[in-house]
Amino acid sequence: MPATPAARHDPARGAYIYTIGCQMNELDSELAAGTMRGAGWDIVDAPGRAAAIFVNTCSVREKAEDKAYSFLGRMKMLKRQRPELVIGVLGCMAQKEGALIFRRAPYVDIVAGTAHFTRIDDYVRQVRETGQRILATGRDEEVKTEKRLKAGELRHSAFVAVMRGCDHHCTYCVVPNTRGSEISRPLEEIVEECRILVGEGAQEITLLGQNIDSYGKRLTPRRRTLAELLYAAADIKGLKRLRFVTSHPSDIKPELFQAFRDLPSLMPYLHIPAQSGSNEVLRRMRRGYTFERYVELIEAARSAVPDIAFAGDTIVGFSGETEQDFERTLELHRLARYQTSYIFMYSQRAFTPAVEQGLPDDVPAEVKNRRCNELMALQREISRAENQKRVGQVVEVLGNGPSERDPARQQGRNPQHQVVIVETQKDLKGRFYNVEITGASEAALYGRLA
Ligand code: SF4
Repeated sequence: MPATPAARHDPARGAYIYTIGCQMNELDSELAAGTMRGAGWDIVDAPGRAAAIFVNTCSVREKAEDKAYSFLGRMKMLKRQRPELVIGVLGCMAQKEGALIFRRAPYVDIVAGTAHFTRIDDYVRQVRETGQRILATGRDEEVKTEKRLKAGELRHSAFVAVMRGCDHHCTYCVVPNTRGSEISRPLEEIVEECRILVGEGAQEITLLGQNIDSYGKRLTPRRRTLAELLYAAADIKGLKRLRFVTSHPSDIKPELFQAFRDLPSLMPYLHIPAQSGSNEVLRRMRRGYTFERYVELIEAARSAVPDIAFAGDTIVGFSGETEQDFERTLELHRLARYQTSYIFMYSQRAFTPAVEQGLPDDVPAEVKNRRCNELMALQREISRAENQKRVGQVVEVLGNGPSERDPARQQGRNPQHQVVIVETQKDLKGRFYNVEITGASEAALYGRLA
């Protein structure tokens, strides 16, 4: 989050936003920051310098909620020292827990759900004027055609939300509960937003949706598709890289592969979560596809774009998962050869269909642990081997600036979204450059400027 230098900052108008979770949350925090800036606030880089503190939360995993409460615990000390400080909880956990948050953390002033990011300036004002807490979790104010507010920084790589919510009801997932049903933004409005961002300096745009392949299905006067949107966005002059996430295997349409063939700016990267390789587990998860169908999709994508890279999500230890089920998951990873895979141990979440249907969380913790470690070890091997294939190649990189771990190095991404690290004194943020790859680990490629 771009922040204001200390020297220019008015302590009574400083807002700090801490983001937990996915890219959609990062974007929502940008919207929240834009809202605050629009009301005359500065975004600051430390809670100690803020008069209003927000945590933008995630509910997908228990760990993310624990992280939010532990952050709030730390903010409690600040509130004791400065009772006028306004503390707000935003996003999925706010939507799901509502007033419960006030009970667990009585020093919180605002609980605002997933449809209220662009009203937080008003909530802070109300809290300051009345001293009353605010709970805003209704869906009536759903931001159907949200417009990007000025984020305050020219970004070379920007996110654009094209839809919100999800119509699937995967039994382990809380998203339909926290974010509601799918609502797509009009195609023309999205393209206009992309055009503005490119005009402001964005070279890469990532279109975001919880289930982006079903984009546009309820739009009027006519249904639109993700492929149509990609063709329209790729037409924007000056846009060098176009990406989209996240795909659902049941909703991918053949036109998508055609778009990959036709559009040079559409980057060869597909995040396509399988969640499990077992047809029985997929049925219990209510995913709507089989192992065989998933492998067909991977093959279709590879034949359209031979150099495409896949990212996956896998849940280990879902209700009733047997050793045979887990073997199928290992097999799926071997076939898909994900460049990256996000692997999680199943933990039952309140308000999910699994709980409502009484699907027990019955795989013992030590078994989940063992399977998780085994799958992660396999994935590390695959990622390393996939990255090794690039050694000796020259790849085009869009720079993100100094590496967080070692500021003497610059890092960026190649078209397949792999992290590429080079040693150089130059600041390459926002620039395209070629790198000759000389080495690879499971997490990154290393090389020299070519
Ligand atoms: S597709 Fe399934 S996992 Fe993804 S957001 Fe929708 S319900 Fe959740």
